[in-house]
Amino acid sequence: MESNKQQPKVIIAGAGPGGLASAMLLAAKGVKVEVFERLSRVGGRTSYLVDGDFKFDTGPTFFLYPQLLEEIFKEAGANLADEVEMVRLDPQYRLFFEGGPTLDATPDLDQMEKEVAKISVEDSKRVKDFMKENAWKLEKLRPVLQQPFNNLSDFVKPSLFKALPAVRPWASLDQDLKRFFKDPRTRLAFSFQSKYLGMSPYRCPSLFSILSGLEYQYGVYHPIGGCAAVSEAMARVAKRMGVKFHLEEPVDELIFEGRRVTGIKTKTGEHKADALFINADFARAMSRLVPDHLLSRWTKAEVDDKQFSCSTFMLYLGIDGIYKDLPHHTIVMSEDYQGNLDDIENQHRLSDTPSYYVQNACVTDPSLAPEGKSTLYILLPVTHQHENVNWEAEASKFRDLALDRLSLIGLGDVRERIESETMITPDDWDSKYEIHRGAVFNLAHNIGQLLHNRPRNRFEELDGVYLTGGGTHPGSGLPVIYESARISANLALRDLSA
Ligand SMILES: Cc1cc2nc3c(=O)[nH]c(=O)nc-3n(C[C@H](O)[C@H](O)[C@H](O)COP(=O)(O)OP(=O)(O)OC[C@H]3O[C@@H](n4cnc5c(N)ncnc54)[C@H](O)[C@@H]3O)c2cc1C
Repeated sequence: MESNKQQPKVIIAGAGPGGLASAMLLAAKGVKVEVFERLSRVGGRTSYLVDGDFKFDTGPTFFLYPQLLEEIFKEAGANLADEVEMVRLDPQYRLFFEGGPTLDATPDLDQMEKEVAKISVEDSKRVKDFMKENAWKLEKLRPVLQQPFNNLSDFVKPSLFKALPAVRPWASLDQDLKRFFKDPRTRLAFSFQSKYLGMSPYRCPSLFSILSGLEYQYGVYHPIGGCAAVSEAMARVAKRMGVKFHLEEPVDELIFEGRRVTGIKTKTGEHKADALFINADFARAMSRLVPDHLLSRWTKAEVDDKQFSCSTFMLYLGIDGIYKDLPHHTIVMSEDYQGNLDDIENQHRLSDTPSYYVQNACVTDPSLAPEGKSTLYILLPVTHQHENVNWEAEASKFRDLALDRLSLIGLGDVRERIESETMITPDDWDSKYEIHRGAVFNLAHNIGQLLHNRPRNRFEELDGVYLTGGGTHPGSGLPVIYESARISANLALRDLSA
């Protein structure tokens, strides 16, 4: 193994949010870092698409809890606010229930009570109690989300015992919310956030009510230029610290000495390092980069046996004009919300009346389109790749259905106004973005695949390998992905004595 005690060297495979945050944290501690990325720009799913004069975020559009990234920037000697302008949204988003009513979700809790009263006056009286419990829950869970789960000893830490009453592992999110809200629509208003993890609130563990708590307590932000601007800022800061980026240079192979990884092979040859961080999609990286005989817990067969998150069908539309009455974020809940989720998670088929989400970013950020024009980002949660859905045959019909359903929120004339259009199906997530089964939120976040049961930050199957990103602990979603980088960087720094 090539070792340099003065300045250890780490290679990072992938320049997604997990890889970028790891690069910043390692470089801040004097580690020599090189990042290898298969695509031509940084950010992974948190990058952007350009179509003509229109610019779109590829994936994330909800930027939550910037405080965590601020800490990472600070460690790297930078200031997030100097690098990216963040706008706190109010309303945070519009919730459109097919069949009524429509709520504008706001962090002003007195106003939010009035919004919830449109569904149920009784439920509106419990909004503040729910928020109070969530704030308590987040404080209990915070230490658990910040620690690794590499050994059994990690389970006997006092922080975990203290968090247990908050976790309620037997309850789903929806069951848990019944303690506060009687109307299923109110429960959906405070639990649809499980979709950020690619899960239904009827299966998602109750601990994830903290997502809704995070929004109301700390805000929903739009970074000017889109979430991709955050990824670019991270790369900029990392470069200033000496991190070297190799774009369009995928890691093709790992170099092993027994179970220890000592470097990588790319089109430019062999690159040795003291440690490797894997940010590429976990399931894909295992099947592409690690020979099965070196694996026991995460062999191809074991990985195939796991439960995966849903996928998404995406339309990115450049629009003539601006829909000024449509807020930045709108979430449309199908009248058959439960049936739609059953189609996604259990039946693995396409729904006739799917729920969807629209981002109308130009009402906040005109920089994304030419003057007098705007962008629409349309996301429909769908099953991950499955033999029941042949996207080659279905994509164009599903696109038409999606455009038809936009008339629900007043965009009946959208077809006449489309100037540019890009579509991404689960097949594209799989083939162009290298995401196993197109499951864009990684392994599902059920209790059996969390904490110790998720692929571990200090990867348990190989020596000298650390995981960062949505595939490892704590899970998918930008704040926790940045946290995964911090956990893994701290473990590696300890191991490398840097
Ligand atoms: C449509 C969509 C919407 C989302 N919305 C939100 C949201 O609103 N808010 C939120 O917080 N989260 C959201 N997420 C989830 C999550 O935050 C993002 O997917 C995030 O980008 C995942 O980060 P990551 O670091 O795990 O991996 P990625 O972003 O996928 O980065 C991994 C990188 O590894 C590279 N790579 C792969 N293989 C190799 C190889 N062999 N060699 C070198 N490089 C390689 C890839 O090209 C990629 O750049 C969304 C995701 C999607 C897809």
